[in-house]
Amino acid sequence: MYLKKIELNGFKSFANKTEFLINPGITAIVGPNGSGKSNIIDAIRWVLGEQSAKALRGSKMEDVIFAGSEGRKQKNYAEVSLVFDNSQGKLAIDYSEVNIIRRIFRDGESEYYINKTPCRLKDIHELFMDTGVGKEAYSIISQGQVEDILNSRPEEKRIIFEEAAGIVKYKNKKKESLKK
Ligand code: ATP
Ligand code: MG
Repeated sequence: MYLKKIELNGFKSFANKTEFLINPGITAIVGPNGSGKSNIIDAIRWVLGEQSAKALRGSKMEDVIFAGSEGRKQKNYAEVSLVFDNSQGKLAIDYSEVNIIRRIFRDGESEYYINKTPCRLKDIHELFMDTGVGKEAYSIISQGQVEDILNSRPEEKRIIFEEAAGIVKYKNKKKESLKK
């Protein structure tokens, strides 16, 4: 599984619809300070369900919507779309390509879609559980996080190993069935 495409529309500094096509292998994003490199990573976290505005370097969720610039009106919504290659079936869904979309309007809740079908945030969490992809998973390693992991308590380290081992979904199922 790999990330094939990122599409941003009205997300932070990306006022226009902007598409990034990614090939397998290593991709580097380069550009001057303030050109939007980190905004692309924020977009990936956001579409995978990030609920904390602070984690996205804002103060409220509305801050992810293009705020306007000189000669350019603010936008009233933001949308991010990711396309994952799933030809090896790592994601438990019967499609060789999986598209995830999140959209937010200034006055509203977020909408989520898996392959164009509206879904809950929970469905997105479940789809990516145990794959290493996800807003808190190890597929995104931010500045300082390596030190944080090395310095974390054993219980916190264990969470990372459990995700890598692919057993989080079973632990979750156990927890849910014990609740019933
Ligand atoms: P650096 O090399 O310094 O890390 P960067 O390429 O990572 O820079 P970003 O942090 O991604 O840059 O982009 C910051 C820019 O995004 C700032 O100019 C900021 O004004 C702009 N920006 C952030 N949120 C919005 C928004 N909601 N609307 C418009 N512009 C925004
Ligand atoms: Mg940056």
